[in-house]
Amino acid sequence: MTYVVTQYCVDCRYTDCAEVCPVEAFHKGPRMLYINPETCIDCDACVPACPVEAIYPEDEVPEKWAHFTQINADEC
Ligand code: SF4
Ligand code: SF4
Repeated sequence: MTYVVTQYCVDCRYTDCAEVCPVEAFHKGPRMLYINPETCIDCDACVPACPVEAIYPEDEVPEKWAHFTQINADEC
């Protein structure tokens, strides 16, 4: 499994999520961060670090943000 960054990350510049990730799974896009599904080890550390609750485990991504799972993979 992986974790997925979703819509509310857009234009956030508070990147503590990436700093707590033990495997450097986060990649910076022009307007948001993405998680590399090949790298993420499902440790859950990034979820409480995100102030806007933009990060979900892959199997808990809300329906309206479902397309972000593919976007994260494509952008990494
Ligand atoms: S995942 Fe959360 S903390 Fe990290 S850059 Fe996006 S909104 Fe900010
Ligand atoms: S769940 Fe853990 S390994 Fe995956 S992106 Fe978050 S902090 Fe990194």
